[in-house]
Amino acid sequence: MSETKTCVVIGASHAGVNFAFALRQEGWEGNIILFDKDETLPYHRPPLSKKYLELEDSIQNNLLKPEDSYLKENISLKLGKSIININREDRTLTLEGGEVQKYDKLVLATGARAFVPPIKGLKDAKNVFTLRNIADVNGIREALNTSTAKKVVVIGGGYIGLETAASLKKLGADVTVLEREERILARVTTPYLSNFFYDLHDTNGVKIYAEKEVTEVSKVGDKNMVICSDGSSYEADLIIVGVGIKVNSELAEKIGLTIENGIRVETTAQTSDKDIYAIGDCNCHYNTFYDTFIRLESVQNAVDQAKVAAKNICGKTAVYDALPWFWSDQYDVKLQIVGLSKGHDETVVRVEDDKKFSIWYFKGDRLLAVDSINNAKSYVFGTKYIKSKALIDKLKLADPNSELKSISIA
Ligand SMILES: Cc1cc2nc3c(=O)[nH]c(=O)nc-3n(C[C@H](O)[C@H](O)[C@H](O)COP(=O)(O)OP(=O)(O)OC[C@H]3O[C@@H](n4cnc5c(N)ncnc54)[C@H](O)[C@@H]3O)c2cc1C
Repeated sequence: MSETKTCVVIGASHAGVNFAFALRQEGWEGNIILFDKDETLPYHRPPLSKKYLELEDSIQNNLLKPEDSYLKENISLKLGKSIININREDRTLTLEGGEVQKYDKLVLATGARAFVPPIKGLKDAKNVFTLRNIADVNGIREALNTSTAKKVVVIGGGYIGLETAASLKKLGADVTVLEREERILARVTTPYLSNFFYDLHDTNGVKIYAEKEVTEVSKVGDKNMVICSDGSSYEADLIIVGVGIKVNSELAEKIGLTIENGIRVETTAQTSDKDIYAIGDCNCHYNTFYDTFIRLESVQNAVDQAKVAAKNICGKTAVYDALPWFWSDQYDVKLQIVGLSKGHDETVVRVEDDKKFSIWYFKGDRLLAVDSINNAKSYVFGTKYIKSKALIDKLKLADPNSELKSISIA
């Protein structure tokens, strides 16, 4: 009789949870053990800066899977458990506290954590929050409910900073966003879209200041003063730090797996150890559409890679070749992004009206990516044309009176 095999997953979030269920679906008959240091039942992260924060929603409405489904699928979910070491030789994990767990296959779905920059005085300041976990949101809510002045300074004008600013504004806070670059979203999009989001926030009463590098946080009475390199300062009852993430790749690094902007994997999601896979935010993988290695922070990437890893562990052959997509919600605006715009040399803007438009990114004749604002049709056609490598008539594309279905030349 053959021994029951055990697949262990570190990290029970979008990647880890979807992997565990996919593994069962693919026919894995052995044990599946899912560890996470977080004590809360696995939940959706995107709403944390959007509806969940804004509506003060309940975690029960935000779970990745109903609680009883883990039992039904015979998945052992172990929460509040931190893995501190991996031993590749005898294929074991060590938990904080000393417990040891054996594995036959191991999946690293360790994701990322919020990066906190070394700003003088920040760690001793009052009511400073990042936004990655449910505990962060609970802390923000509590601080908002107890503070009377409700002045919030958001450090960082990326998607998470801006979504949080919009949600806190809706909750009645007085919100200021400080961005180090010359414009918000500078790393990820065009000046056109940055200006659009700047105006959107301005109209809704959120103040955004660019070229503001925060260098210090000092205390004045029971308030924080957020001080920038140009000498300007901003009073804050609450400070939200939204300046990016740090990949949780330390465990993998410690055991000698290849690390390069995350845990390097094959298109099968396998790491440099054949019994260890890495999926989601923590991995760096080859993207077939763009002929480059990338690390993505998106739900699509986590979920699609989970399915690929599950298939491969069950002995089927699957490669990860998905086209990246992402979304952001701010006020009544839905941004949908498909593809990667990096390396573009031309953009075409198609304006249907001032709150419905799309930006199409080209390198020469090749369509690389599309950003759609309140415009699902552009997102759908953009996806189709990127996948089919269609040649686009750019003049027709720019004309909102021409049908998107007729802009493809070949
Ligand atoms: C506020 C916010 C808004 C977002 N909005 C969007 C959006 O609109 N669209 C979109 O596509 N994406 C969005 N994202 C990104 C998306 O949530 C991530 O891409 C996704 O969560 C990645 O899933 P993951 O499972 O790879 O990693 P994570 O979600 O980071 O999960 C990793 C898990 O591993 C656990 N872990 C790590 N190390 C250990 C260890 N040693 N022992 C035990 N457990 C461990 C952690 O506790 C964590 O639960 C958002 C993220 C945030 C934070």
